[in-house]
Amino acid sequence: MWVRVLGSAAGGGFPQWNCACPRCRAVRDGSRPCRPRTQSSVAVSADYQEWFLLNASPDIRAQIEAFPALHPNGIRNSPLRSVLLTDAELDHTFGLLLLRETEDIEIHCTEAVYETLLNGTSLLQTLGAYTGVGWRPVTTGKEMSLGDGLSYLAFEVPTNKMARFGTSEGGESVVGYRITDARTGRVLVYVPGAQQLTTSVREQLQGCACLLFDGTCWQDDELVGLGIATKTSREMGHLPIGDADGSLKQLAPLAIERKVYVHINNTNPILIEDSPERRIVEEYGLEVAVDGLELEI
Ligand SMILES: [Zn+2]
Ligand SMILES: [Zn+2]
Repeated sequence: MWVRVLGSAAGGGFPQWNCACPRCRAVRDGSRPCRPRTQSSVAVSADYQEWFLLNASPDIRAQIEAFPALHPNGIRNSPLRSVLLTDAELDHTFGLLLLRETEDIEIHCTEAVYETLLNGTSLLQTLGAYTGVGWRPVTTGKEMSLGDGLSYLAFEVPTNKMARFGTSEGGESVVGYRITDARTGRVLVYVPGAQQLTTSVREQLQGCACLLFDGTCWQDDELVGLGIATKTSREMGHLPIGDADGSLKQLAPLAIERKVYVHINNTNPILIEDSPERRIVEEYGLEVAVDGLELEI
């Protein structure tokens, strides 16, 4: 299975247009070693011919252009077969609108996410005015065929984050995916948003070859400390990396070949390549994704 990180930043990207935090300043003025990043999205393929998107970011157009395997191979077509959504966040779904030139689009998501996209953000109502929308309901805990030799199992990632659109109270507003290549049995797990590593989430990480995990913030009060927000990382639905009970110390002991942080917020010091925080992540055996990172698992 091929895995391509199209975008490795959290919502807003790196730098974020209206942010002058130390990290955004550094990437703009080149004063520290770091690379710009687009918003979070991943493409997977069993054969490098047909591709499936994990979330569709507002940067999808530039992400497709930056990756020749996603360029059209006929006069008007695309190697993209369908899109899997982990939740209804705008930075994970806005790109669907930018794919409106296609004749139809296949979207896999839970009923809670579908309901929010239809009646909360109304994104699917707008998209549906341009192209056919084929909804494939995602049932958690059930192995489902994706196509081209790939299957997936979605699992709920519990969160008590306040939904901006009040239609997702029924649970399953955030999921992760285990994607399996039937030919090799190899598994990718994708969890770009996790408030905590619950026992049920940890069980889903077992036996995977590669884990792409929520790397939004280094510490819980990161945005509060910078005077950017009043909410902590956890309150925004993201387990911080570096706290005493953060994700790094919990993920480090797990026997997984590649453990990679994705969905990295522009305030996170791990974006700075010579920062102490970046060194700690690497000492624990985890990686920090950049746009264009490609893995064969
Ligand atoms: Zn996000
Ligand atoms: Zn910033």
